[in-house]
Amino acid sequence: MMNSIDQQIADQLNQNHRILITSHVRPDADAVGSVLAIGLALKNAGKYVQMVLEDDTAGFEYLPKIQLVKQVPDGDVDLAIVLDCSDLNRVGHVLNDYGKPDLVVDHHKTNLNFGINNIVEPEQVATAEILFDHLPKWGLTIDQDVATCLLAGIVGDTIGFRTSNVNSATMRRTAELMDFGADLARIYREELVLQSYKAVRYWGAGLIRLQHENGIIWTSLTLDDRQDIGYPGNGDADLVNILSSVREAEIALIFVEQSQNDVKISWRARPGLDVSGIATFLGGGGHAAAAGADVKGSLENVQKRVILLTKKLLEQRKSE
Ligand code: 5GP
Ligand code: MN
Repeated sequence: MMNSIDQQIADQLNQNHRILITSHVRPDADAVGSVLAIGLALKNAGKYVQMVLEDDTAGFEYLPKIQLVKQVPDGDVDLAIVLDCSDLNRVGHVLNDYGKPDLVVDHHKTNLNFGINNIVEPEQVATAEILFDHLPKWGLTIDQDVATCLLAGIVGDTIGFRTSNVNSATMRRTAELMDFGADLARIYREELVLQSYKAVRYWGAGLIRLQHENGIIWTSLTLDDRQDIGYPGNGDADLVNILSSVREAEIALIFVEQSQNDVKISWRARPGLDVSGIATFLGGGGHAAAAGADVKGSLENVQKRVILLTKKLLEQRKSE
């Protein structure tokens, strides 16, 4: 028998026509892939769908029908769905005219259950993995395009099946998605291997300033780096993943200057450590192994303060 919340969601999707789907600012593959996956499945079911992300989707041109994802909503909405997002703030302005979303689907342990219905499963490696399980229960069909978007979310959030939460069920779902026609090698290459020349030069700017103390490795990317190199994004171009490959590092951190008074921080931690608490304390959120926050202040001050807090976390952990 179907779980009553799945039945309720299936009914809701059935009864409403104009559906808005969104996710977090600075979207990653799980955000874009999940939005497109459920968006395309609902379109195939005859719904009028708006897929909206506040920030642009550069880098995700390899996903099917990516051109359907817009940056501002347009017109009436009967039902709003938020994916891969632990709080409403992180959606940006997309739901300003709508308010509380009808459905939230997420895998962050820091999720605030801010929807009317909330499917929050922190043990899942990606929101896309949750959708894989639930879409059929909501009466929706997984075809090749939907499967490609779901697999992109799984590959992105597990950094190519490398995170410690990957289990045999993830691999079984992956196999099924490949049976639906998702091209794993292509998704892997587009999502994790290929980088633009500018992105790699941007890494270089960060790597020159790399620092290491007592198991913590960190660096920063400045507004000047971006301007000098002409790097178009405002993220770290996944440099944090390179930092976390340093054997000596138990925690890797990156500080990305957003403006004179705003710094985006990303943490990555080895299995057994949990950086989601420190990120939440600073107004952000995330998972035990990967978390982030936006902190007000100059790059120098934020860096000093956050390195100190991160050192404390590691020392505390060592004395336990
Ligand atoms: P990243 O460091 O790659 O931006 O994010 C790592 C994880 O932390 C992702 O799951 C991401 O959704 C979450 N995260 C990053 N920044 C924030 C933030 O400002 N607020 C919240 N709630 N989560 C964040
Ligand atoms: Mn995710």
